[in-house]
Amino acid sequence: MCRAGRLFRPWTLTVVDACDACNADLGAHDIGDGAAVFLIFLLGFTVVPLAWWFDVAFAPPLWGHVVLWGVVCGGVIALVLPATKAYIILLEYRHRRR
Ligand SMILES: [Zn+2]
Repeated sequence: MCRAGRLFRPWTLTVVDACDACNADLGAHDIGDGAAVFLIFLLGFTVVPLAWWFDVAFAPPLWGHVVLWGVVCGGVIALVLPATKAYIILLEYRHRRR
């Protein structure tokens, strides 16, 4: 894995079959829901206490919670999920049995 080629197909989180730059076989890597489960735990342990504190401190309407935490969770997922999935694939690529 040279880090020069594309890891995911454009606008998706589907792993390409082979690296464009070094032709490394990437199609066999299936990490399943590993990255998503990691983010579920991360967001669950951080956003739920923040939402509780925000509700106690500011008492926003329910739709305010939906908009605010929807944007926060969606933004964190959009930013962190590709990097997390790429890191897990990198670990699997480096440490898999040959
Ligand atoms: Zn490569």
